[in-house]
Amino acid sequence: MAEVLEFVRRFSSEEACIIHLSGLRWPGGYVCSGCGGRESWRLKARPRVYECGSCHHQESVTSGTVFHRTRTELPKWFLAAHLMGCDKRGVSAKFLQRELGVAYQTAWTT
Ligand SMILES: [Zn+2]
Repeated sequence: MAEVLEFVRRFSSEEACIIHLSGLRWPGGYVCSGCGGRESWRLKARPRVYECGSCHHQESVTSGTVFHRTRTELPKWFLAAHLMGCDKRGVSAKFLQRELGVAYQTAWTT
């Protein structure tokens, strides 16, 4: 139970979840998948989207994950995904498990 509370505290805000997802997507910092540019900014109206400073390619931190296109707040998704971490059904679930597995290890071994 304590670990669930810790998880909730760690990912209590939309911003914390976005930052976490961007860190998983670009471990060495932002890299544009279109032109390789390293400069980016985020859209005020769509904070989950990063836009390349050079070619204006847009990429959401949630694309390719089960969070893609959801309107649900990310903290709720994170917690649900965490609690369903043992579910091995489907590619998305596997992807998520791998993704959050990293977060889990990082959170509990340091
Ligand atoms: Zn670019």
